[in-house]
This record gives sequence, structure tokens and C-alpha cells, in this order.
Amino acid sequence: MVAGARMVIGADGLASGVPYIPSPNCDDRPPGARVELLVVHAISLPPGEFGGPDVVALFTNRLDTSAHPYYAGLAGLRVSAHFLVRRDGALTQLVPCGRRAWHAGASTWRGRSRCNDFSIGIELEGADDTPFEAEQYATLASITRVLRAHYPIDDIAGHSDIAPGRKSDPGPHFDWARYRTLLGA
Ligand SMILES: [Zn+2]
Repeated sequence: MVAGARMVIGADGLASGVPYIPSPNCDDRPPGARVELLVVHAISLPPGEFGGPDVVALFTNRLDTSAHPYYAGLAGLRVSAHFLVRRDGALTQLVPCGRRAWHAGASTWRGRSRCNDFSIGIELEGADDTPFEAEQYATLASITRVLRAHYPIDDIAGHSDIAPGRKSDPGPHFDWARYRTLLGA
């Protein structure tokens, strides 16, 4: 992203100026589906370790599942998110916004199931026991503003809100008040 340049979502569903690493783990949204929900996630691989290539590797089906004991449980997983925000705030896109990324799994929001159909998923590199970085909040707020300008997004939820009991991310350290304050600014 060039400093000062205004990020926009193109007709191809890609955010301008944002590095795009295509994930094969996506498909078409159902006919007539609109993007109405933004889902905030957190992930780190190995859990609690930041900065490595393995989150992107997981989302592009290139993870060496023998490389860490935790990864055995990830074998064969086909998952993705539209965006990843690294610890330094760097943003990467993995799935075009018009496509359905596979981030939510079994999920329900306001009585509607299959949240992937009508949502955009943003992963923050993080863990349940670690505060997020200021740069991550800044990037998250900025991509949220861009997405809200482009799509009729009514709600923002955490993965734990749409899959309670099954998912805990973005976790207790995600500061919703801080995020909402940034959005209001
Ligand atoms: Zn999640």
C-alpha cells in the first residue's frame, strides 16, 4: 500500500495495493448472497509463535504437517480467510471479497447459519493469551472502513461469537472498544 493512497476494493474483489496470495480454499457465494458480516479471527502457527510462514502455508494448502506436533491435527484441513493482518500490521489478501472464504465453519449469526455465505473473514496473527499490537488495530480499522464503504456490512463479530463453545478467537485480549473507537474516528 502506497502511503497516502486510498485503498479500494476493485471489481475483482481485491483490495488495491495489498499483496495477494491466492488461496484455493474458496468458492462462489450462493446466488443473491450479500456481504453483511465481518468476522474477526486470530491465528498463529505454531500457536503462540509469530512471524513465520505457516499461517499462509495453511491457507494455501502448503503446510508441512510433519513440521510441528500441533500440525498433525491440521492435516487435510481446507481453510482460508479473506485477509491476514500480521503483527506489524502488514495486510495480505488470500481470497477475493466476492468469493466465499472458508473461515467460519459451522456458525450462526442472528439466527442465520453458514456465515461464510455472507461474511468476510479477517485473521489477526495472534493468540488467546497475548495482546494484539497497535499496528494490527490500525490496519484492521482501515480495511474495515474500506469494506464498509463497499459492502452493506451491518455487523462485526468475533469467530467466538458465531461459533460459541467451538471457537475462542479472537480471544480475551482482543479489545473491541479500542477497535470500535478507531472505526468511529
Ligand atoms: Zn477463527
